[in-house]
Amino acid sequence: METSRPQRLVKRTSTWTGLERLRESFAGRLVTPGDAGYDEARRVWNATADRRPALVAGCATPADVIAALRFARDENLVVAVRGGGHSYPGFSTCDDGVVIDLGPMQEVTVDPDRRIATVQAGALLKGLDTATQRHGLVCPSGAVGHTGVAGLTLGGGLGRLMRRFGLTIDNLIDVDLVSADGRQIRASEDEHPDLFWGLRGAGANFGVVTSLRFRLHPAGPDIVAGAAVWPAERAHEVAETFRQWSISAPDDLTAAFSVFLAGDEFGPDLAGRPVVVIAAAHLGRDSAVARDLAPVRALRPALDTFARISYLDMQTASDDYYAWGRRNYWKGVLLTDLPRATVDILVDRLLAAPSERCGFGMITMGGAIRRVADEDSAFSGRGANWWLTTEALWDDPVDDEAHFAWGRDSLAQLRRVAVATNYVNDLGQPGEHNLRDIYGDARYERLVALKCAWDPENVFRLNQNITPR
Ligand SMILES: Cc1cc2nc3c(=O)[nH]c(=O)nc-3n(C[C@H](O)[C@H](O)[C@H](O)COP(=O)(O)OP(=O)(O)OC[C@H]3O[C@@H](n4cnc5c(N)ncnc54)[C@H](O)[C@@H]3O)c2cc1C
Repeated sequence: METSRPQRLVKRTSTWTGLERLRESFAGRLVTPGDAGYDEARRVWNATADRRPALVAGCATPADVIAALRFARDENLVVAVRGGGHSYPGFSTCDDGVVIDLGPMQEVTVDPDRRIATVQAGALLKGLDTATQRHGLVCPSGAVGHTGVAGLTLGGGLGRLMRRFGLTIDNLIDVDLVSADGRQIRASEDEHPDLFWGLRGAGANFGVVTSLRFRLHPAGPDIVAGAAVWPAERAHEVAETFRQWSISAPDDLTAAFSVFLAGDEFGPDLAGRPVVVIAAAHLGRDSAVARDLAPVRALRPALDTFARISYLDMQTASDDYYAWGRRNYWKGVLLTDLPRATVDILVDRLLAAPSERCGFGMITMGGAIRRVADEDSAFSGRGANWWLTTEALWDDPVDDEAHFAWGRDSLAQLRRVAVATNYVNDLGQPGEHNLRDIYGDARYERLVALKCAWDPENVFRLNQNITPR
């Protein structure tokens, strides 16, 4: 149902001299409060980010991006840039400003001979995976199909194939973007290499990315994936095995360790109970899979679902669980160690959760990620062993505070034990963390210099913001 147009926006939009001019040349769709489809156009993944932009500019071309950006700057309106709309804190929307929505730009083209994908910046992971799998190729990316390629890549890109093929940024060839002053720029190792360095790990700060090119690798059409499940009483015993096994396994295997409340799909013995789960994806042959999963199977899980499945099915298996439009509080940390105290916190916090869809998951890093030199990109945390995420998911706004508090407290406890650093793509609101600590002094100073060069007025500030001096 459409909501009525707030008075202050009626007044504001009526004074925009440039809006009619923008409409004349705009190939995509411009939606303002009161227009049909406004509520749909302003929606982002996390329902707690319920904002009312003055204009959602659904861009169909880079020229649209330039025009929308110029309009926002002329009218002195704040700019939010939206790829897939998955930002946990809701950075890709805003109140009273302009959302530059790349959603209409979803084309993915694959050159199978050169093993390169060219991806428009509104594409989602599912679009990238579907297009590349037609040629038996993959680009390592994230674990949920409706995540945006652009936002995920610009922060780093961690996922199920990263130990074998690296982070998503490690496969990035070049990026086309519209700069704060409206120029079309290409950044790569050869063109604007400094900017290309910053785009890989702090990338939402420097412009509106319109297209990305990635190196691809042969994999699929199937892969071994699945999970082994135990009641949470066995958490320490399972974690003991996971700790060494997951980081010393061959790169073909990427494993995850999770703690949550089992749903009905886990069967009558486990449903409703706290469980620990080792999930894994394995790119190898059956004999290698059997060898590498043996230590996990030796722990006699209550449930073992490992099987050869389609790569595309694996990549979209969680899409419904993490559906758009629910309320979410997610944050992550990167760990070097996994001491008993961390496992205790995970189990204790699960038992203290305010509702059934709260839990923790950690995915193993290392492998190819660590073979890229730390200073080669702005991404911070290549030395970590695990990426741990705290997740809370609920529907009723009345329950917001209980879930926010649970997430905050869980992270505060984890931070006291064994945190290396953070992944910028799963930080919360500015003010909740210190970006200088996360990037480190040298990297942070380099990013500030880049920001001063490319966006001195901080037009792109709705992100994990590198503030220009
Ligand atoms: C369900 C879910 C699963 C996830 N799984 C993973 C995972 O497996 N691996 C992983 O690494 N991360 C994962 N993430 C985190 C994800 O990488 C970040 O939320 C990421 O920022 C999402 O990108 P987006 O384009 O969808 O989001 P958006 O909200 O559109 O954008 C996020 C940020 O990037 C900026 N941005 C987006 N597009 C552009 C562009 N074209 N040019 C410039 N800036 C842009 C936005 O302004 C904003 O600051 C997941 C998130 C969710 C919600």
